[in-house]
Amino acid sequence: MELQAFLSRRVVTPEGLRPAAVLVHGERIRAVVELEDVPTNAVKQDFGEAAFLPGLVDSHVHINEPGRTEWEGFRTATLAAAAGGYTMLVDMPLNCVPATTNVAALQHKRRAAHGQCCVDWAAWGGVVPDNPGEIEALAGAGVRGFKCFLVHPGIDEFSMVREADLRTALPHVTRTGLPLLVHAELPGPLDVAKERLSGADWRCYSTYLQSRPDEAELTAIRLVLSLCRQYEFRLHIVHLATSLALEELRTARAAGMPVTVETCPHYLHLEAEAIADGATLCKCAPPIRERMNREQLWQGLKERVIDLVVTDHSPCPPEMKSVDTGSFSSAWGGIASLSIALPVMWTEAHQRGFTLMDIARWMSREPARLAGCGARKGQIAAGYDADFVVFDPEADFKVIADRLHHRHPLSPYMGEELHGVVKKTYLRGTAVFDDGRFPGEPSGREFHP
Ligand SMILES: [Zn+2]
Repeated sequence: MELQAFLSRRVVTPEGLRPAAVLVHGERIRAVVELEDVPTNAVKQDFGEAAFLPGLVDSHVHINEPGRTEWEGFRTATLAAAAGGYTMLVDMPLNCVPATTNVAALQHKRRAAHGQCCVDWAAWGGVVPDNPGEIEALAGAGVRGFKCFLVHPGIDEFSMVREADLRTALPHVTRTGLPLLVHAELPGPLDVAKERLSGADWRCYSTYLQSRPDEAELTAIRLVLSLCRQYEFRLHIVHLATSLALEELRTARAAGMPVTVETCPHYLHLEAEAIADGATLCKCAPPIRERMNREQLWQGLKERVIDLVVTDHSPCPPEMKSVDTGSFSSAWGGIASLSIALPVMWTEAHQRGFTLMDIARWMSREPARLAGCGARKGQIAAGYDADFVVFDPEADFKVIADRLHHRHPLSPYMGEELHGVVKKTYLRGTAVFDDGRFPGEPSGREFHP
């Protein structure tokens, strides 16, 4: 097996950004050495000034296969991922049919994924009212952790949990040692808001925003923090959209609670004030909030109350976005962004003084840790999988349909000029994306520690 040497003036290593050569033997990184120390027998690839980052890891993706492959699937989601610099996805247990709430469903998913993936993947299991008896079996079968909803998730095959359901499930979750990912909105404040909005114009973004108030997130987060204190499970808050919860999360973490937090590129880039009426491509839940709130989320990242940034890639067919009527009431809530999340983040981050080190921490190292892959994925260091993204942080491009690669080319970012271009993506030492092309056969596989 030949020794490969990847050279760059800007390699993002755990110790910092520096000129280095990354030596790869087979699928793993053998060493990271000075440029002048490359062994003479190595096959060299020199990327010059382009940045060389660990392959991104997205721990929040809805692949939707099996069962809703017409929305998205393993093939198209992983193509979009490779084009976006991602080398590993962790699939949410819902929107696929069957939902991943028992071992048979997990096996079904494995069969659906087989031979189709351009990047590596793994699965989250679901916690629903009727499956406490499945939780430990799912852990034994290889899920990376669990996901639950405190509110109706928008589809019928996956049920929300109430506090009593959680009290039954949590002792099982704690025993697995795996994290529980929580969609934190409570139905109470949503119902009150909706009642107040009867007769409102659902083409207006402000109507949708008011229908999902900060209060719904805040009360849900308080509930799960109190359960976390009692049951001592690893709690992870998905897609935090309200900055009003940051103070309590900061306090919980300062007290040493096992709590982690994520947010998404759309909450960090878009702003409610600029969303046009009828612009249903921007609908997601919780909603994109105001500009001031967005700046507070950036502050949360800076203070490390928010650990990671993931896409919540959740595509659907065009007709489900109600683009013709512009109704925020009937439109599917979900934004797909795997192929452009890195440039979206870099566009915002670099103008706020963040570096590629921050990007690698938010989008690679921390999601890998959350999913229990942190010893093999998420860093450029000896022994790790040779997963890389070659990124030109100075180039610009315009978002067009050809750049997206997921099944349906819908995007709230369409037409935007973004900063930073993904040039090439390597999965375990082999190029899987190269300037718009996808060389080779699908070589992604399920992650096993
Ligand atoms: Zn989601």
